[in-house]
Amino acid sequence: MSGPNDDIKKERERFVAFAFAAAEIFLEIDALGQVLFESGAADKLSSNGRSLLGTPLFDRVYSEDSDILMALMDHLDYKGRIGPMPIRFKLDDGDIVALRLFGLRMPGREKRTFLSLRSAPLSSLADSGATDTATGLLTRDGFMELAAKTMQNFDGPLFMTAISIEGIQESRKKFGSRHAERLLKRISAHLKTLSADGMSAGQIGESEFAFLHRQKGDADYASKSIEDAGKDSDLKAVAATIAADQDLGEGEVIRTLTYVLSKFCENPDGCTFTSVADAYDIMAGETQKRVNTMRHMIETGSFKMAFQPVVSLQTGDIHHHEVLSRFTIDGREESPQNIIRFAEDVGIIEEFDLSLCVKAIDYIRKMRRLGSHVDVSLNLSGRTLESGRLRDALADILIGAQDISRSIVLELTETKAIEDFERVQKLLAEFKTSGFQICLDDFGVGAAGYQYLRAFDVDMVKISGEYVREMGEATYRPTFLLSMVRLCDDLGVKTVGEHVETRFQADFLKSLGVKYGQGYYFGRPTFSPKVS
Ligand code: C2E
Ligand code: CA
Repeated sequence: MSGPNDDIKKERERFVAFAFAAAEIFLEIDALGQVLFESGAADKLSSNGRSLLGTPLFDRVYSEDSDILMALMDHLDYKGRIGPMPIRFKLDDGDIVALRLFGLRMPGREKRTFLSLRSAPLSSLADSGATDTATGLLTRDGFMELAAKTMQNFDGPLFMTAISIEGIQESRKKFGSRHAERLLKRISAHLKTLSADGMSAGQIGESEFAFLHRQKGDADYASKSIEDAGKDSDLKAVAATIAADQDLGEGEVIRTLTYVLSKFCENPDGCTFTSVADAYDIMAGETQKRVNTMRHMIETGSFKMAFQPVVSLQTGDIHHHEVLSRFTIDGREESPQNIIRFAEDVGIIEEFDLSLCVKAIDYIRKMRRLGSHVDVSLNLSGRTLESGRLRDALADILIGAQDISRSIVLELTETKAIEDFERVQKLLAEFKTSGFQICLDDFGVGAAGYQYLRAFDVDMVKISGEYVREMGEATYRPTFLLSMVRLCDDLGVKTVGEHVETRFQADFLKSLGVKYGQGYYFGRPTFSPKVS
């Protein structure tokens, strides 16, 4: 026979079973963090299996993570339930155990906190490249990826808030870097605790952070918590929130969020987008305006050419100048890197490359008429060689300039965009026959460089500036660079070292057998090349 007591007992057992199915350790702690109740495998956290009852839980938490438990205790009244939060405990033998923590506060129980802890494989908490090891916050890229996925595929209300925190750098200056690091950890703990799943918070700039959350009010609450946590440092937080809404593709969401976050980093106070769709519309309008401006610049040739010398490391003589484009938009100099990337993204790089070729050819001819001789290299995007639309037009322009082809090196950039390998190979062979030289830009970045080296019968390669920058570092080994130089030598391909900023780098490249150097040490890009 089963009576009401049996039913209650069964029911209770059922809930206990549910609890154990989800977690392994259960603790109840008071407002100061003293353990009032323990169950499950709590002995995992104690010394020699001793009970934790009556001891402060904070003593068990790994010191780097105590801010997390503190922030969790702070925010439980506001959030009701928090977790899973990754948190580490230290054991008596010095080992560290990583667990996932869920917290709940029951109304009317005098700030008693119920915690359940579940194992978490260390690997998922350890730095996977997307998380900063010191703060546990996602990196900008890691956050973007997570935010775009989550905001594209969301259930229930979801928001992204960006927070700019003024005062961290000042605090570093005033109180030292240890203090600033502690502060950063506290800020991180608040953001993680308030984020949708305890981990969806990231650092997106030096003083800018972002997190995903479920309630609109979380943004103000987080700003206030951070300002309170950094009272001694006089922190000031400015936040902007956007809501996830309607169906945009993942690519569109990622572009929109990147746009929102970069606008926010530029001017936190002026960032007033309300939702992803709203930001998308504004971004699309701006993009169209930029495309129009860029098209106008291409059609009228109203951009400038700067020239940077490429110098023989043996003799110091200028071999040629690389042409680097310079853009002024609305009276402001814009970064060529951004403009070129933009032109590639919106599919007008082909028109731009053509326009630059025409401009450079005109320039070389004009200089010749004036009795001066200038040799140049021109950047050509892999996309332009690939493009069915403009390949013929490019060929017409270049083959029509055979009178000056010996003064021009074609630098292939963005080679990863090349898919129709044989076609590009044929086109380049035609250019070579017409007297142009071929150079591979950014050599050493990505594996494909070697494949192109042979297939495109190149005359010259530019060794990526990364290899040159590393030269001053104590751990630097030239093995890889040396093997690239040897390979090029064997194939009769000339080498250029980029971003040479010091005499040491120039001498080092020379000693490795690199033929030419380019960089601020030899000369910055200027509007008037040295001519002979
Ligand atoms: P890139 O082809 O790798 O050009 C070299 C970049 O390194 C230039 O940046 C140059 O100003 C910079 N640089 C030169 N010496 C040094 C140095 O010693 N240290 C450092 N840190 N940097 C140095 P810039 O002019 O901003 O151009 C950026 C990129 O934009 C270029 O990278 C190229 O990919 C693209 N670009 C520029 N003009 C054109 C163009 O007319 N057509 C195409 N397709 N791309 C262009
Ligand atoms: Ca280049």
